[in-house]
Amino acid sequence: MIRRMRAMQLDSAGAPLRSVERPVPEPGPGELLVEVAACGVCRTDLHIADGELAGPRPIVPGHEIVGRVVALGEGTGGFAAGDRVGVPWLGRSCGACAYCRGGEENLCDDPIFTGFTRDGGYATHAVADALFCFPIPQAFGDVEAAPLLCAGLIGWRALKLAGDGGRLGLYGFGAAAHILAQVAVWQGRRVHAFTRPGDRDAQAFARSLGCTWAGGSDEAPPEALDAAILFAPAGALVPQALKRVRKGGRVICAGIHMSDIPSFPYADLWGERRIQSVANLTRADGREFLDLAARAGVRTVTTAFPLAEADAALAALREGRLEGAAVLIPGLR
Ligand SMILES: [Zn+2]
Ligand SMILES: [Zn+2]
Repeated sequence: MIRRMRAMQLDSAGAPLRSVERPVPEPGPGELLVEVAACGVCRTDLHIADGELAGPRPIVPGHEIVGRVVALGEGTGGFAAGDRVGVPWLGRSCGACAYCRGGEENLCDDPIFTGFTRDGGYATHAVADALFCFPIPQAFGDVEAAPLLCAGLIGWRALKLAGDGGRLGLYGFGAAAHILAQVAVWQGRRVHAFTRPGDRDAQAFARSLGCTWAGGSDEAPPEALDAAILFAPAGALVPQALKRVRKGGRVICAGIHMSDIPSFPYADLWGERRIQSVANLTRADGREFLDLAARAGVRTVTTAFPLAEADAALAALREGRLEGAAVLIPGLR
């Protein structure tokens, strides 16, 4: 019996996703075949669909996959059919380059990225490297766990790079910030949420999650910040955020793509302020974050879309109409 699967495929940049049917793939050595229960929609997917990130096409996007193992290739000991797994953005690292050997597999010279250089989770099934899948804590349902797999755990890497300071700013209050705000509040930090100017709904949402202050990105917070994390892909926010951090403070850019950063006076960087990007994740980040998210009682806010409506989910994200994260559900009609 040849089993068939459905996927939403990107044929070329700017084109709508196309629903395709194909045979379910066989997992190769070291690989798992996962039946997708839920797949989060990440801003990176928008950058891929819009062509701001150039990769192989056609491609099936989606790198926040929660699903169950339905078939196993050779050498996948430790997993069994029926296991629930999470499949993240880092699909595989080479294990041989200087970065991999030095514990920085997030910077690998020859990586595979789920939903970018290998077909991802906008589908009923996906193949993943067993060594790069995570178990999902019991505390989370399939749908609420999906946004943890990129928004959450790359956000967590950004939070670690932001340092331990108690006064944190988050620019762009979407999927990642709504998770990271909960973690930072749980850690005892004061969190300041910066939204699009005038976006009262997003500001109220931020306050409801424990943020001590919420305002427009053009507003000054009530205190100088130890660090700011930028989740919004707008380069113009970098010099703005730099003005809000104290001497020695950090501005962390958490997205994979951003519009150009306008020039700014060196005096704003003076005082040992830092600007740093965050790239990808390590497996250690993922294990650490999923455990911590369960202990911190993180609750994700999601909007469910049927798989066939992936384009509508991307449009809602592009237009800033979502509260929390969009999640595609193959079983939803
Ligand atoms: Zn490598
Ligand atoms: Zn992502």
